[in-house]
Amino acid sequence: MNFRLKIEPKGFLGDLSGGRLFSFAVVDLDRSKSYPLNFVCMLPVNIGTKAGSAFQTIFGDRSIEQAKALLTAALESENDLRVKAGIERRLKLLAPEPATLVKCSSCGKTFNPGWTRKFRKKFCPECMAKKYGGRD
Ligand SMILES: [Zn+2]
Repeated sequence: MNFRLKIEPKGFLGDLSGGRLFSFAVVDLDRSKSYPLNFVCMLPVNIGTKAGSAFQTIFGDRSIEQAKALLTAALESENDLRVKAGIERRLKLLAPEPATLVKCSSCGKTFNPGWTRKFRKKFCPECMAKKYGGRD
């Protein structure tokens, strides 16, 4: 098993940004050196949320790890800046930005405000509980 990514432009976005869409195919160089004989499966955009994709069936629990390794290796060997940007986009989707910590307006403790974007939380969970009557 010698997996690589084969990245090919699959179309052009119709806007002026010049954005391109790429298809990410996983190939096995041990199987064959020529595409599509070595085609294994497609690399899905959202690994983890799309259970049952061929990629996840093959790699199981190691799907994300494997996808990261494939993308990182592809990024290193790629020279086309647009393809690089496409790979980086995929990598970002695999590894969400670390959550920014927020300082509690009441006790000053830093905490993770979570994914709630609608309400920018100002108080840590403990102060929220005290303020709005959690446990007590
Ligand atoms: Zn607090």
